[in-house]
Parts: sequence; C-alpha cells; structure tokens
Amino acid sequence: MKKVYLMTPGPTPVPSEVRLAEAREIIHHRTKEFSDTIKIVSEGLKPIFKTKNSVFTFAASGTGAMEGAVCNLLSKGDKALVIKGGKFGERWANLCKAYGVEAISVEVEWGDVADPAVVKKHLDDNPDIKVVFATLCETSTATEYPIREYGEVIKSRPNTLLVVDAISGLAACDLQVDNWGVDVCVSGSQKSLMLPPGLAFASISDKAWPFMDKSNLPKFYFDFKKARKALEKSDTPFTPAVSLIMGLKQALEMINADGGIDKILERVTVMGDATQAAMKALGLKLISKHPAKALTGIFAPDGVDGKELKKTLEKKYGVMVAGGQDQFEGKVIRLTHLGYICQFDIITAIAAIELSLHDLKHPVELGKGLKAAQEVFAKASI
Ligand SMILES: *Cc1c(COP(=O)(O)O)cnc(C)c1O
Repeated sequence: MKKVYLMTPGPTPVPSEVRLAEAREIIHHRTKEFSDTIKIVSEGLKPIFKTKNSVFTFAASGTGAMEGAVCNLLSKGDKALVIKGGKFGERWANLCKAYGVEAISVEVEWGDVADPAVVKKHLDDNPDIKVVFATLCETSTATEYPIREYGEVIKSRPNTLLVVDAISGLAACDLQVDNWGVDVCVSGSQKSLMLPPGLAFASISDKAWPFMDKSNLPKFYFDFKKARKALEKSDTPFTPAVSLIMGLKQALEMINADGGIDKILERVTVMGDATQAAMKALGLKLISKHPAKALTGIFAPDGVDGKELKKTLEKKYGVMVAGGQDQFEGKVIRLTHLGYICQFDIITAIAAIELSLHDLKHPVELGKGLKAAQEVFAKASI
C-alpha cells in the first residue's frame, strides 16, 4: 500500500490522540463539562499567542477571524493600511474592499517583506489610518514578516491598531503578541495546532476594544463583543464545534507535554533549517528573500515544470506538497515543517524531491540534500 505523507502548509497531519479525542461521544455545549473545556482551551491558547489577553475561538476556517477583525474594528470609509506581498496579504485587501474600507496597500514583491520605515512613512502621511493589516508568515511565498518592527512603529500611536494574520505563523514563527503590540492576532486550527480545519482564533488587546464601540460595519456571527460576553461565562454565543474543541484540548496538552511553545518553535526552526539546507545543497532556489521556518518554498529548477514536480511527488511517492498560486503557479512547490511533522517526515520529503527530480531528468546527486539535512539534525538538540 502506498502511504500518503501530508506535507502541505495546511491542512497538516493530525495525531491519533487528537483524532481519538474528537471521536468521543458528543456532549452538549451548555454543560459544566463543556464550559470547563472552553475555559481550559481559552487559557491554554494564551501562552501559544504569548498574550495575557483573551483568545476567542470560532467555528470557522481562519478567514472567519480575519473577517471578524475587519468588521469589528472599522467603519465604512475608514482607512486601513494593508501589507500585500502574496495571497494572504491580498486577502486582507479583499476583505477591506468587501466591507467598504479604504485600503492603502504597501505593495511588496512576492518573496520580499515590507520595510518598517515604509509602514512608518504611510502612517506619518496618513495619521487617520486606523488599522495596519499584516501577515506573520505569508504562506504563498514562504516568507516571514518583521511583525516586531511593525509593532514598534504602531505601538505608540493611540489611534492605530496592528492586526496580524498568524494563521500559519502561530506556533511556527517567533510571535510575541503582547510584547510586540499586536492588537488582534488571528489564527486557525489546521496549521501548527495539529487539528483538522474548522476553528478560527483571535486574541484581542485592551487597545482594540474601544475601536469596536465606534465600528458601524455589519456583523453578527463574528461579533467580537458577543464572543467576549459569552467567554466571560466560559460560554460561546452559538453552537461551538464541540468535537474540534475536544481535539484542541488534547492538542494543547500534547504541546505542553512536549515542552511547551518555545520547544515547538525550536523544533520547527531546526526542521526549517534542515529543509532549506537540503534545498540549497541540491542547487534549488528558495522563493523567499526572508524565508520563514514554518514552510519552505522553492522554484522548480530550469527545465522542470513545477506542476510535474508536484504531481510526481504526489502520485509516485505519496508526498503531498503545495504548488504555487497566481504568479507562482506551476513554478514553485511548498512543503511545511509545522505542527505534527518530525525530522523523518522531512527526510522522507527531501528523498522524494531528489527522486522526483531524477525522474524528471534533472541532474541530481541522490542523497546530497539528505546529507545536508542530516548534518543540521546531527548538530541540533531537538
Ligand atoms: C492557511 C492560511 C490562511 C487561510 O485560512 P483558512 O483557514 O483557509 O481560512 C490565511 N492566511 C494564511 C497566512 C494562511 O497560511
């Protein structure tokens, strides 16, 4: 039987302990058992976000929390700044457009990041910008953005908030919500948290709440104030995704048993270093100038079609990776190292990339990438 290795940057593999927790008999959500669970997971998410603020959980994919950030903080005609260097930066701009928010874009070449000085200049020129929308790890370009530095620019401005999409970045890239002044940080369940898709999260700072009193955009399901009122009683405004929340409790326990968030980050970093060292050893070019450790994106080498490479990996070797979107379509492959992925998944993926390139008649020295990765693992203490 062919085995499938899910190496896409979402969804990611779900450990059997989590799947078993989700398979338990359904319990009613208005019970003490469930309300205790809500309390445990809401508290348990705080150290992952590195925040003292409340973290809210919604039954939605990550984009639901992104939408909530837009419609709760802003009003029609308000100005926002969007850092746009890939698919997910564009999503912020599209959400603003859908709600009639005037989005000024900082256009960034795919694979690059926005200079914090440029963000500062925009804010100096437009002091009425209410929200800066950024992405911690731009998954479409495998790029990590300097959120800490954006925070430095925004923190001291009482009328501007920093909102960050950390859907793939949470528990994969360094992120310190409180220290860096991230006002709303959104994430989702199907990346580092080792869960199936279906939960969205948002942490909300004290600075952000008063913005919601002024917001006149339509909102109902993703009304953050409703979520806050419910969470004060360890409750949710609507029927929660009970089974996913049971899985989340289990996943958080596993993260703690594994040494907590900093240990997880260390492991992701080593796996990112190993993968990226392997790609370099194979002469493959990373697509990012500021590569994230959460995932690795490479250009297919000259003479190799990216779509064929992805197809060979999947059909012949069972290794599922992501291709490219829009301008990267057919040109790149992306594979993840976050969540429930270990050194040997990485080794498998690298071996499959070497074999696939060989199959596609690209000259490759088998084992060269593996050696580079193993050398990184040999030096690391994870
Ligand atoms: C995966 C991802 C999303 C998409 O979230 P959905 O859960 O599909 O709504 C958004 N932003 C980033 C950076 C992502 O990696």
